Amino acid sequence: MTERQMTIIKTRCVNRLEPSSPPPPPPPPQQDILIPPILLVSLRSDDEFIRERRIKEEMNEPNLNEWDDTKLHDRVHPEDIPIIKNTRLRLFKAPDVPTWIFTKDGQYSVKSGYHQLTKPGTEHFLPNHTMTTLWKQLWKLNIPPKIKHFWWRVMHNALPVANNLARRRLKVIPDCIFCGDAQESILHLLFQCRFAKEVWELSPLHIEPGQLESRDLLDDIMQYLFKSSNQAMSKEYLFPFIGWRLWKARNELFFNNKRWAIPEIIHNAMMDFKLWTDSQAIPNISLLKHGKPKATTLQEIMHHTSSFVCCVDASWLDSQSRAGIGWILYSPQGRCVLRGFSSVAPVTTALEAEALALKEALFHLRRLNYVDVTFCGDSMLLYCDLEKIKKMPHSVPGCLEIQSYLDDITALSLNSFDFKFICRNDNSVADLLAKSARSQNLPFTISWEY
Ligand SMILES: [Zn+2]
Repeated sequence: MTERQMTIIKTRCVNRLEPSSPPPPPPPPQQDILIPPILLVSLRSDDEFIRERRIKEEMNEPNLNEWDDTKLHDRVHPEDIPIIKNTRLRLFKAPDVPTWIFTKDGQYSVKSGYHQLTKPGTEHFLPNHTMTTLWKQLWKLNIPPKIKHFWWRVMHNALPVANNLARRRLKVIPDCIFCGDAQESILHLLFQCRFAKEVWELSPLHIEPGQLESRDLLDDIMQYLFKSSNQAMSKEYLFPFIGWRLWKARNELFFNNKRWAIPEIIHNAMMDFKLWTDSQAIPNISLLKHGKPKATTLQEIMHHTSSFVCCVDASWLDSQSRAGIGWILYSPQGRCVLRGFSSVAPVTTALEAEALALKEALFHLRRLNYVDVTFCGDSMLLYCDLEKIKKMPHSVPGCLEIQSYLDDITALSLNSFDFKFICRNDNSVADLLAKSARSQNLPFTISWEY
């Protein structure tokens, strides 16, 4: 699969195309029309009444949930249409929201941004080989992410200093705000300005006088800083904190007209350094406390609940083959009352198959007027996310890959449905149903047990 296809699949613009705006003219055949990869949808309706009414309406007209072929042909390159149609539409309409597709939870992180910029094919973002090696060295340092990000900007000439702003035709005062003797560039501001030099030379790094001055290339200076830090403080590196504080001091003067004294900058950098290294020494208590979520046994669930229990599973081979879903419903007395299974069109991942299986089970039990059901499955990610959403309805959305399913499931689940993560052995009946539906390509079936 090409990267472009991946981008489209990840671009889950799963709302139906709105009919109101007139379609733009069809694209020329060679033109790549990609929906921007940051689009994704999320259901967050505030009005419970409207939401409930919409759920009822849309449940009665499930066939409405299909891509509009005419509009797709009007707006999308023909080659991309089958890929887009592979994306299942959510059950309920919701507004589009921007999402960063390169992390699991859709939230931007510096790490993922950096990864995108430096993956094969984009090496030109890094200025030269030495700088690439230095950057790798810096990336491995145990320093706060914001400081790492700051140094990434230093090394890629991406700080908004005067000479960079002037290059973009912004009208700025070109002089260094600390000394006024030279134009403000990154190299000058952080290393060659007489104010900055004093900060470095008075710091515990023991930079010898004149050492920074004699170097007029950033990579040369960085190599020197790595070397001197290594001698001075073994594995802990103070210099990233000093550079960061110099930049903060510049901004404080630039925006708030407040001048920090040199000892103050050094002191703050050392405090940052100490707080960070101390915090790293404390074991992560929350991880120790919670660890990996533990599966509940089906027996325990049956014993403690007075509701119906529905075990759900999916069977998935790869993104090209049809998958299978299966579920089995037990009465509060533990008697099997209903089961359903179906083979389904290919889905991208095993997790998506699990989410689809649960959505289908939920949808049909709701249609059959079951209102008090505990759904159990062996997909830790899916069921733990749902348990979390149930406890904290406004928590951060879970795994992005199945976000639209999570939204549909939450919308369908009323407040009476519950979700539990169980171990694979306890889910063998649903697993068997899903496997046989997939391998025998069985049509959608619900059967009652007597
Ligand atoms: Zn200066």
